[in-house]
Amino acid sequence: MQDILKKSAIAQFNSIKNKEIKAVELTQATIERIKSVDEKLGAFNSLTEETALNTAKMVDEKVAKGEELPLLAGVPLALKDNMNLIGSKTTASSKILENFVSPYNATVTQKLLDNLVPIVGKANLDEFAMGSSNENSAFKKVHNPWNLNKVPGGSSGGSAAAVAACESALALGSDTGGSIRLPASFCGIVGMKPTYGKVSRYGLIAFASSLDQIGPFARTVEDAAALLEVISGYDKHDSTSLKLPVENYRNTINNDIKGMKIGVVKELVGEGLAADVSKAIQNAIDTYKSLGAEVVEISLPNIKHSIGIYYILATAECSSNLARFDGVKYGYRTKNSKNLLEMYCKTRAEGFGPEVKRRIMLGTYALSSGYYDAYYKKAQQMRRVVTNDFLAAFEKVDVLIAPTCPNTAFDLGSKTEDPLAMYLTDIATIGANLAGIPALSVPAGFDKDGMPIGLQIMSPQLTEAKLFNVAYKFEQAHDYYTKLAEV
Ligand code: GLN
Repeated sequence: MQDILKKSAIAQFNSIKNKEIKAVELTQATIERIKSVDEKLGAFNSLTEETALNTAKMVDEKVAKGEELPLLAGVPLALKDNMNLIGSKTTASSKILENFVSPYNATVTQKLLDNLVPIVGKANLDEFAMGSSNENSAFKKVHNPWNLNKVPGGSSGGSAAAVAACESALALGSDTGGSIRLPASFCGIVGMKPTYGKVSRYGLIAFASSLDQIGPFARTVEDAAALLEVISGYDKHDSTSLKLPVENYRNTINNDIKGMKIGVVKELVGEGLAADVSKAIQNAIDTYKSLGAEVVEISLPNIKHSIGIYYILATAECSSNLARFDGVKYGYRTKNSKNLLEMYCKTRAEGFGPEVKRRIMLGTYALSSGYYDAYYKKAQQMRRVVTNDFLAAFEKVDVLIAPTCPNTAFDLGSKTEDPLAMYLTDIATIGANLAGIPALSVPAGFDKDGMPIGLQIMSPQLTEAKLFNVAYKFEQAHDYYTKLAEV
């Protein structure tokens, strides 16, 4: 592998600006890297070589003319395969969309293209982003670059594995209940979910619209901050998009955090935590104290209900969002049906995988008359209660810390027969989606088997600048982020 591929996105960007490497060469080296290792990893569903090289060429032309480059121009990126890139397949790792070619760009994709970021391919995921291990892809599993027998985490497992294995410097993922942060933590990289509404969801295949948010993956906090700057901003195509100016997070990333108040979430550091994860959290507490922050214990008394709330709301929303895949407008259609109703039923029976069907059935049940008040309405009320816990906590502290996951990456196949065990891996991440707050996972060490551990940091809505600042200070106090998986 060429050394440049191991560098951070900002370092790659600077090398292009300073004419040390051509953008086309960097994109070619990245694609070669993917071709040499991805058979082992399964991180990509498809490559978009032509788009990437065309974009890179435009970067080199600008450099030759002495023009200023937009942020991250020329730095290769992997796009999760549930976001549209015009003229290429968007499959959501589902058989039902296996041959769907997008006629338009997602807003995030357009922003990347505007900034001349070469999109090298579409990253594998759990089907329709439903899962925690990337084993629900209809096409192939993703393997963790640190140990090929382990899961990369999900649902954005391909995006995380790609960045961890230097198949790209950057990736985008989507996070509905932890799908950016969990794979970031399992793969030893940075993954960040912005405030709900910061990044447009237009052109992202909807899973649970009130929870979905697109965010960056990178190997450093600074890179993730830069990528969020590129993709965020108001969009008239998304009615939940916030009308706020795009911020520069890198300006304040190295601010002193002396005197800052950091809360450790009591409910997420107790029972059920793997010993090495527990040690890593203690280490993080010590680090923050040595940086002059005040660390206190904070209770989120209702966080224990978040999984139950989430699996009612997310399934309810997905049962509605996925109704559009009926064999009529796009995607797969069954070959043998006698009438319209049979065509709908067979298309969906043949096109969706087992986990997606389970979610649609759960959600349809939760929304059905007679059960609506008992499940959906109650879950909405409880979502407010959990959000209020966060609001109360942020009255007392600036940010909250917790593990991203109580354990490190598990063996492939070890939880596939037990959906409940799989759902429980999201205990620490779902709260941020329910409350709509920004949250991030940053590398925080390794367990005894050498698997990465993630530290999760959460902050109040629209305080991304503070979140990146607190994460950066921790990152720079250690060398975990400099360690790379050997693939
Ligand atoms: N693991 C969670 C689920 O299966 C979260 C998925 C996500 O964030 N997209 O629903």
